[in-house]
Amino acid sequence: MEVGRVVKVSGPLVLAKEMDHARLYDVVSVSEQNLIGEIIEMRGDVASIQVYEETSMLGPGEPVTSRGEPLSVELGPGLIESMFDGIQRPLEKVRAVAGDFITRGIAVPALDRERKWEFVPTKKAGDEVIGGDILGTVQETPSIEHRILVPPKMKGKLKSITGGSYTVTEVIAVLETDKGDENLTLMHKWPVRVQRPIKQKLNPDIPMITGQRSIDTFFPVAKGGTACVPGPFGSGKTVVQHQLAKWSDVDVVVYVGCGERGNEMTDVLNEFPELKDPRTGESLMKRTVLIANTSNMPVAAREASIYTGITIAEYFRDMGYSVVMLADSSSRWAEALREMSGRLEEMPGDEGYPAYLGSRLAEFYERAGRVKTIGSDDRDGTLTAIGAVSPPGGDLSEPVTQATLRIVKVFWGLDSALAYARHFPAINWLSSYSNYVDGISAWVNANIDERYGDLRQRALSLLQEEANLNEIVRLVGYDALSERDQLKLETAKSIREDYLQQDSFHELDSYASTKKQIELLDLVMSFIDIANHALDEGVYLKKILALPVRDSIARAKYTLETEISKIADIRVQLEKDVEELIKQEVSVHA
Ligand code: ADP
Ligand code: MG
Repeated sequence: MEVGRVVKVSGPLVLAKEMDHARLYDVVSVSEQNLIGEIIEMRGDVASIQVYEETSMLGPGEPVTSRGEPLSVELGPGLIESMFDGIQRPLEKVRAVAGDFITRGIAVPALDRERKWEFVPTKKAGDEVIGGDILGTVQETPSIEHRILVPPKMKGKLKSITGGSYTVTEVIAVLETDKGDENLTLMHKWPVRVQRPIKQKLNPDIPMITGQRSIDTFFPVAKGGTACVPGPFGSGKTVVQHQLAKWSDVDVVVYVGCGERGNEMTDVLNEFPELKDPRTGESLMKRTVLIANTSNMPVAAREASIYTGITIAEYFRDMGYSVVMLADSSSRWAEALREMSGRLEEMPGDEGYPAYLGSRLAEFYERAGRVKTIGSDDRDGTLTAIGAVSPPGGDLSEPVTQATLRIVKVFWGLDSALAYARHFPAINWLSSYSNYVDGISAWVNANIDERYGDLRQRALSLLQEEANLNEIVRLVGYDALSERDQLKLETAKSIREDYLQQDSFHELDSYASTKKQIELLDLVMSFIDIANHALDEGVYLKKILALPVRDSIARAKYTLETEISKIADIRVQLEKDVEELIKQEVSVHA
């Protein structure tokens, strides 16, 4: 075997010479301890290797050998419920072998080699198949039927295929191809930096329903769309990501955590298995793959983690599922990129980030989409990608936020002032946006409730007007406003407090169906119409604002999903009470 030699070690970056046998992006073994690394640059016979493990004990002269393949993930049953590190090593297994800290050179396969899975074929011997075709299924968890796919690019006639109990490496079928027979197993490998092929991209105009009012109503994300959640420390990025993991109407969740605080990933690892999937009552882990970069892991593994995550997400998309990939926080990923770039002595760009920061981010988010999957049958899959961004000091002009905003279609801007005022989720309604609104409005209007598009528009306009009116109040005071304008301010306040504020930790408020959201917003917005009518009749605004029914409006968000019709009853009560005020007014003047 050909062997190169270490010439220099600089943190996670190792230079090795006599590497002409290897290729760019090959995975290599470094030293007798077999540390895992990846060639990220080749100059002549000198390879720059990013090493995914602690390098402090390495020195010049130690051997480096190429494994002759790029950094890849294993795709097959056993992914769901797993917790991996950035290069897909199973955290629990590694911990069992090596203790709490991932020691070096530990080779534990990503997918369990012992565990047997019950494979039920849907194809039979003699069938012609191509990459992406479903060979059969494995019930991976109560929530997920794992569809065993012919690996992309393969093509041929099935010589044999047999149901039964298999490990991920045992042969389930033999495929006769142009290049000879291929043994198919429950798993296959795929290089993480290469997008998995698709047949066709489709328009993302179906909402990914999250149950979060501020998101679904005002700044919705499409299934197959991209979104980012920038915000300063403590503004609620992680809570938003957890809410999305918990409530989004998707089949599979891939959560990539690059924690900001040392113990944050430990929290995720402990908390996720405790979360319940509201649809099945099972643990949320039964449809979740977790990738965690704890603080004791080298930066290079963090760089790899989002590719590992999105490749696994693409694989479930290829089965025809809707998948969401959440990355918290992509800033930590970008910092890993910056550190590697610095060690490579590349020309630094803005704030030390490499010039290719934007293109790397774009390559990542481009892998999201609503697609026709490969294979001979007609199958749609969606992959939605959502990244938290942690701009230092909350300054959105910094490079990672700016590069992300150029790519993603939805921006949920978290605001420290709102978080400080305990307005959660602290999504700023004036600066946030969604470029999916047109498609999604049409879809929701047609499929759920035709009031949606108008209500959304009116409520958002009112919030914008509130900002302008507040300017006037600052100059001349509230009392100088007309009653009509005061009513606008009161209604806007109600939109903020009774509608947008949503407590993630309140059992009845954590999730709101689209139907409930629309009823609720209709109620909140009906106040301005009904009150305006009363003002026409000469009723004082003060009297309207003092109506006890306003408390019911404020509490309407806690209505049970099974009792949504009660929300409309509050509106009826409001109309009655206001009619009463009008009658009193008329009798006084009679
Ligand atoms: P970040 O990840 O931006 O640093 P976190 O997501 O950890 O911030 O949120 C900080 C704290 O804010 C949470 O621990 C919680 O107390 C509060 N919080 C954030 N979002 C919500 C919400 N939607 N409902 C209730 N509390 C929230
Ligand atoms: Mg956080």
